[in-house]
Amino acid sequence: MPLVNLKKLIVKANRENYAVGAFNFTNMETLQAIISAAEELKSPVIIQTSEGAINYMGLNYVSAMAVAAAKSAKVPVALHLDHGGSVDMAKDCIKAGYTSIMIDGSSLKLEENIDITKKVVNIAKKTKVSVEAELGKLGVISDLISTADSSMFLTEPKEAKQFVKDTKVDALAIAIGTAHGPFKKDPKIAHDRIEEIKELIKMPLVMHGASGVPDKDIKEAIERGINKININTEIRQVFSKAIKDKFAGKPDTYKIRAYLEPGRSAVEELVKDKIELFGSVGKG
Ligand SMILES: [Zn+2]
Repeated sequence: MPLVNLKKLIVKANRENYAVGAFNFTNMETLQAIISAAEELKSPVIIQTSEGAINYMGLNYVSAMAVAAAKSAKVPVALHLDHGGSVDMAKDCIKAGYTSIMIDGSSLKLEENIDITKKVVNIAKKTKVSVEAELGKLGVISDLISTADSSMFLTEPKEAKQFVKDTKVDALAIAIGTAHGPFKKDPKIAHDRIEEIKELIKMPLVMHGASGVPDKDIKEAIERGINKININTEIRQVFSKAIKDKFAGKPDTYKIRAYLEPGRSAVEELVKDKIELFGSVGKG
């Protein structure tokens, strides 16, 4: 079937209390792995790219692969821009066939975030493309910095209510104690905050930085109101590890397919585990 928009997938998830996985892809193999996993478990799925991945693959390649993947898939697939940074980027992606856009104005002042989000919503709704925005600040973890423990800025429920009223977004990413990148110790998820926000705005909420969050916290976050969960870091980790494990110490091979196949299989297994955890099996 053709690509569907994000709203179609997450409104149902919101009503029925589960989450749809949003999985980042970087090449054909990771995309195929995500789609196969979703098909096997009859789950709806969101495939997404960061701007970095778009720069790597080229927007035309991304959209051609995503359209082909969705067309032959037996489950609904949405193509989403992860952390879009500008109105121009949003426009380019909509033109290329994306069915959902995240505009990330979370580093801006509230009024500026509202302003840029409204601009994207106005453009997107003309073609029934969905929009996700972010409010609050997520942590960042890398080898150089870790803001996950010390300086989290959780989303304020009242601010969230005003924000969605002003912008009319379809989904809201909230800061609840997760971070982008690999956690060094288990994060502390602000489950009460999820529930407070959900009670006020009753719309689909998004968890970013979910790689490495313990399963019990993911389940509780879904119970409290999360309906879209982003997985990126773990995909990259299992893809790379599978290839390194398979070829460590082996004589050189020049067979590209042989190199990439273990990565693809590992991602497929990971995505299946996540879909089961998120409760979307059979919802496609
Ligand atoms: Zn994110």
